[in-house]
Amino acid sequence: MVANMINMNLFLKLRNIIIGNWRNLTGYQSDETKRRRYICKSCEHNIKFSGIRVCDCCGCPIKSKTTVESEKCLMNKW
Ligand code: SF4
Repeated sequence: MVANMINMNLFLKLRNIIIGNWRNLTGYQSDETKRRRYICKSCEHNIKFSGIRVCDCCGCPIKSKTTVESEKCLMNKW
């Protein structure tokens, strides 16, 4: 049961990474994406890592994370 939940969470995370990276590459930006990026821009958890902006709470690239509707800010900022 727990293993199934972990596998499902891993699957959903991988799915979100693929969707987020694809949307980032194609330049997709909804109004919600813009709103999230505006909030992330001034967040203390927004750091530069290997030349890209990432969230140091979850390790996700901000440009990708903000495009996926089901993603959530771990600090409840959006
Ligand atoms: S996802 Fe949340 S915690 Fe991470 S940088 Fe954006 S606002 Fe900050």
